[in-house]
Amino acid sequence: MAGPRLREVLGRVLRIQGLSVQGARLEAKGVVVEVRPRQRKPRCGVCGRPAPGYDASPGRLWRHLALGQTIFWLHYAPRRVHCREHGVRVERVAWAAHDSSFTRAFEELVAWQAQRLDKSSICRLLGINWRTVGTIIERIVEERLSPGRLEGLQIIGVDELGWKAGHKYVSLVVDHLRSRVVWVGEGKNEETLDAFFDELGEERTKELTHATMDLSAAFSKAVGNRAPHVRKVFDRFHVQKLANEALDTVRRQEVREQAGSQEGKALKQSRWALLKNPWNLTVRQGEKLSELKKTNQTLYRAYLLKESLARGMDYVQPKRASEHLDKWCQWASHSRLAPFAKLAKTVQRHKDGILAYVETGLSNGVVEGINNKIRALSRRAYGFRNPKAFRAMILLCCGGMEFTPPLPVAA
Ligand SMILES: [Zn+2]
Repeated sequence: MAGPRLREVLGRVLRIQGLSVQGARLEAKGVVVEVRPRQRKPRCGVCGRPAPGYDASPGRLWRHLALGQTIFWLHYAPRRVHCREHGVRVERVAWAAHDSSFTRAFEELVAWQAQRLDKSSICRLLGINWRTVGTIIERIVEERLSPGRLEGLQIIGVDELGWKAGHKYVSLVVDHLRSRVVWVGEGKNEETLDAFFDELGEERTKELTHATMDLSAAFSKAVGNRAPHVRKVFDRFHVQKLANEALDTVRRQEVREQAGSQEGKALKQSRWALLKNPWNLTVRQGEKLSELKKTNQTLYRAYLLKESLARGMDYVQPKRASEHLDKWCQWASHSRLAPFAKLAKTVQRHKDGILAYVETGLSNGVVEGINNKIRALSRRAYGFRNPKAFRAMILLCCGGMEFTPPLPVAA
């Protein structure tokens, strides 16, 4: 069916710039609309520059939005052009990205939904599979990623994140001031972060003042090499986590030594009481700790060491914190508790960065918050084919990108 009236109606319903409607037919998969670009002279699909026609290509379909429950498809036989730079390519069409079989409006909707909805909702609402969502996101993020996101960075946070149950990693750079992810790279070693500095360039690197991170050597080394003027700020929660691990090692040793006895059994159940902050303890856990003070002094000493290290980072004045940390290191290294003696060395080595936390109050908290959000994303991203799609998903949901879904308007 054709007719000028119908073509006009379809044109207004589709709301796509740069095409004219030739006709439409109803098929099993929906309404197939025959279209033609308004631009008569073909352009290269890659660079968009005008290029002479080469030959015709068979007609193809682009999936567009649905009207009610009926899916709209666009049909057109794009010409192939001969671009001086890119050789023989399919011409550019106004309604879709190069090599995509979805219209831009549809991809925009996918991106908007992927920021907000879970995997099965998106697949169900749009009738496409999750891998296709991944491919669409990859393309649209690449296209929309603003180079400006790397401008004016002063305080960054770096962190790593496991993907595919820890077999693969991505590293993140977060802008503290704007609370958003500005860069994602595959891997978690020094070279990974080097790639970030390469992209940032010397001028913008000079503007950086602080970098928050955990105590892993790779990032610290990369920042030290590439941006030696940047103050490294070590995350206090990571320091505390190391203390918790040392405490738990001591506890497990004690449990082994007391195996079979009543006391050993009690120790086994003391884990959470020991690891919690004292002000979060339940009455029962508080009682357990007081009992421990009497029955197992080794473990109680380890507990006090853990708590004391945390208190050292509570100080507001760096000088007081510094004195506290020095005393703590002394105590820990003479505690006859190997895990804490080892931790004392780590604290000593990273003291400047830990004090930078006290001085600035910057923690990796912003980064961790984003990290938690990404962890939820990573579960969804299992279905993606590659880390690139996961990277795109992170930038899509935590990079401050905005999309406009097709909202209902009057015709
Ligand atoms: Zn070209």
